[in-house]
Formats: sequence, C-alpha cells, structure tokens
Amino acid sequence: MGKNKVKTSDIHILNLAKLIFGPQAILYKKEDLLAYDCDGFTIERHLPRAVVFPTNTEEVSKIVKYCAENHLPFLARGAGTGLSGGAIPLNNEIIISLVRMKRLLEVDLENRFAVVEPGFVNLKLTNSISDKGYYYAPDPSSQYACTIGGNVAENAGGAHCLKYGVTTNHILGLEVVLPNGDIIEIGRNGIPDSPGYDLLGLLTGSEGTLGIVTKITVRILKNPEAKQTVLAYFDNIEDGSQAVSDIISSGIVPAALEMMDKTAIEGVEAAAFPVGHPKDIEAVLLIEVDGIAAGIDDQIELILAVCRRRNVREVKVARDEAERGRWWANRKTGFGAMGAISPDYLVQDGVIPRSKLPEVLARIHKISEESGLRIANIFHAGDGNLHPLVLFDSRIPGETEKAIQAGSACLKVCADVGGSITGEHGVGIEKKEEMRFVFNEEEIKAQTDIRNVFNPDCLLNAGKLFPTPGRCAEVKRELASKS
Ligand SMILES: Cc1cc2nc3c(=O)[nH]c(=O)nc-3n(C[C@H](O)[C@H](O)[C@H](O)COP(=O)(O)OP(=O)(O)OC[C@H]3O[C@@H](n4cnc5c(N)ncnc54)[C@H](O)[C@@H]3O)c2cc1C
Repeated sequence: MGKNKVKTSDIHILNLAKLIFGPQAILYKKEDLLAYDCDGFTIERHLPRAVVFPTNTEEVSKIVKYCAENHLPFLARGAGTGLSGGAIPLNNEIIISLVRMKRLLEVDLENRFAVVEPGFVNLKLTNSISDKGYYYAPDPSSQYACTIGGNVAENAGGAHCLKYGVTTNHILGLEVVLPNGDIIEIGRNGIPDSPGYDLLGLLTGSEGTLGIVTKITVRILKNPEAKQTVLAYFDNIEDGSQAVSDIISSGIVPAALEMMDKTAIEGVEAAAFPVGHPKDIEAVLLIEVDGIAAGIDDQIELILAVCRRRNVREVKVARDEAERGRWWANRKTGFGAMGAISPDYLVQDGVIPRSKLPEVLARIHKISEESGLRIANIFHAGDGNLHPLVLFDSRIPGETEKAIQAGSACLKVCADVGGSITGEHGVGIEKKEEMRFVFNEEEIKAQTDIRNVFNPDCLLNAGKLFPTPGRCAEVKRELASKS
C-alpha cells in the first residue's frame, strides 16, 4: 500500500514506511529532519530519528504498535508552535506528525458540536462555521497555525478564555491511540458528563504523555449578539493594574482583558501591526465585552468610569470592526513582535492572583535590572496569566543562560505569591524542574504514577512534564550559569 521511495539501511524506517499510505509520508534524511529539531521553544534542539505523516487513526495505531513492540521512543506533533518544548525529540524519537489528519468531520449546529481531526488548525474551525453564526471559543494568539490536537495536549488558552474558559471547557469527546497502539473513545458527543473517571479532563493538558489524540469533539458557541472593545492608556503600571482589579470587582466579566507594558508596546509598534500606541505610556489595556446587545453600553460606561477613576491618560472605544481587528492583530502578534526589538526572546507563562499584579510586576522589573536583560510583559491580565518575555541575544556568550535564569526567577515569584508556573503553555522540557516550585515529591509521584499506568515503558514523549529525579530547579539554574 505504501508508495514511499525509502533508501536507508535503517530497518525500522523501512518497516514504518510500509505502514503509512502515500508518498512523502516519512522523512528520515538529516536535511529534512532539521526542521523538526525544536518547536516554539528554540533554546534546546534535538534531531528525531524520523518523522511519519499518517492520514488516519488506523495508521497512527499501527505506527504506535510498531514503536511499542520494538521499543522505539515516539511522540506526537501538531504545528510545532508549543512554547515549552513539548514536541522536541529529546530521545531521538520517531515523530508522529498529525498535520495530514486535518479534516473537519462533522458540524452539528443543533447540538452545538463539531468533530475534527487533530491536525485541524484552530482558526479554521471558527472560519468554517462563522457564516452560520457560530464560533469555537479557545483562541490562542497562535490560532492561525496551531492545531486543535496540540491545543488539547496543552489545554491551550487565549485572550477570550477569561469569560469562556480554556480548551478543557470545550472538549466533549476524544478518540485516543494509547501508547500500546490500542484505540479508545472517551466522552460522548454533546453529553455533559460520562460515568466513571473523568478521562477527558485527564487527557486534556497531559502534554502528549498519555496517548495520541486522533479525533476531537468540541463544543461550538453561538456568536454573541454584540461586542465592544476599549483601549486604555495609563501613565503608570499600578493604575493600569488597579483598573484591571476594579473592572472585575465591579461585577463585569469581560470577554477579554489584556495588558501590555512599555517594553511590549515598543515591540508591537516596531513590528508589522502598529496601531499608534503612544511610546511614553507605561501600560495599555485592551478590554472587550460581549453578549446580548441590551446592557453592553452600560458595561462600557462602567469600564470607562473605572479607567477614569484610575487616572487613565486616554481611553477609546473601537469605532468599527476594522479598528477592533487592528487592535487585536497588534496584541495577538505581540510575541513575534519582540523580534523587532531583540534578536531572541524567551516567553514565560506564570499565573498569579490578580490582586498581586502590581507587586509581581515590580519584582519582575527587579529581575530585569539584576540580570541586565529587558523583560517585556504581555498578558491576560483579567485571569492573572502573565507572559514575561525575556529579551536576549544568543550570540553573546552566557546570555542565553542568563535569560533562562531570569525566566525561572519570574516563575519563582509567581509561585511564591500563591500562583503557578504555567497558565497555558505547558511544562514541556522548559519548566519541568520548576514543577518543584509548586509540587512536593509526593504530589509529583502521584502524577508520574498516573503517567506510568498509561505509558508504562515511557516510550511516549519521555523526559517531559516532570522533573528529573534528584535534580532541582536551583541545580538547573546553576548548571545553566556554568555552561
Ligand atoms: C506566537 C505564539 C503565540 C502563542 N499564543 C498562545 C496563547 O495565546 N495561548 C496558548 O495557550 N498557547 C499559545 N501558544 C503556544 C502554542 O501555540 C499552543 O501550546 C498550542 O496548543 C500548540 O499547538 P501545536 O499544534 O503547535 O502543538 P505542538 O507544538 O506540535 O505540540 C505541543 C504538545 O502537544 C503534543 N501534541 C500535539 N498534537 C498532539 C496530539 N494529536 N495528541 C497528543 N499530543 C499531541 C506534543 O507532543 C507536544 O507535547 C503560542 C505560541 C506561539 C508561537
């Protein structure tokens, strides 16, 4: 059945090629594999043994069975936009790329669900149903590229998750290939609860360590009747942070409540989607409310009043959809925009109680001063999900290690104030030692015990998510500083 012209002495690659249909279904030459040596976490790179491109669940199952029987490490990959190194082949894995499994299988408007293959790109789902008045709520800023399979693995969030919840709140069913090749289905279309353990909850956010997702049933929502978007400029970060707290405590639940600091503003204004933010302000808030039309104007009035009370320099409401779109493009391309002001950047992803925003931002500022590296902040302020972006130049000896240390120090601050080390980007390779900031040995063991039930030989995505036994985050930082 395979038509792959494979010329190699590696018997496993020859055998795997026979399991997959179609030409270009396997890559194994070094020059082809280079594109798969990292994901969005570009600091660490490892070559895979091969990359296979199955087109259906049965092929995934056959590949996984072959790997299990031959003790070959393997992992799943979607679009490779992950920011914590989850798709990096640490152990010379066979990468199972899901990008050829990209069909929209079913849309059921009456029962409000859709079924997609894992390689289906997030934004394509909303684009496919928007003319019928529906959308898919989780909207990571990478939604034009990332896959829904990758979103499930990372339990991805996005700007509008403040009101609508993250990926796990929108997943109704999964088909999964287990690490031994067996195929299981969990959850039922449109049925809110299933008897037995909540395997949907367990699989969502398991970072590709428990199984490979091959089909996903997601909840779809009716478009809100109305939405309005506000931009507010503040001369100091405390006022901006206080406005965030005041808006939430006024009882409004905005659809989105985003913040960028001065360094971030410098980046987005120097990049592809500038909107004319004043360069001398310390913070900008992007606030969106949506819902039934009646009442939206009152919510906007309340938000404007809160901003004025907190000494806003300027506040404006988007005049039309085009202006709203420009503001969002400016915000959503914020990470990449850092490339306009720095050769390299490291994205961090901590969560804190909202009330700690001013204190934590001040401590991040101190980390920046002490490390000598600029740190920009772009974040989902409404739910306390910070993204400190550590700017560095990997060409300068020692600077990458400094950036890693500064990023880890930011996460320690988040953990110390009662927060956590990741809000949406996952642990992957990047933050696995920092898991010790929030879990003790017993708590980590409870989690690895669960992984071992699904993935007993640890052939699937080994070396991710959990700290290396016997090593701690401080040791990692010491090693980084010595290397
Ligand atoms: C510019 C930029 C902005 C971003 N903004 C956001 C944001 O706002 N919110 C957010 O949450 N994230 C964001 N991200 C991070 C990233 O886009 C998400 O984590 C996304 O969910 C990854 O999807 P992917 O298809 O690229 O997965 P990959 O990077 O390919 O894989 C990520 C992990 O999922 C596993 N995996 C992939 N597919 C499957 C599958 N079918 N079955 C099992 N495991 C699988 C992989 O093994 C890996 O561990 C951003 C990234 C970038 C580059």
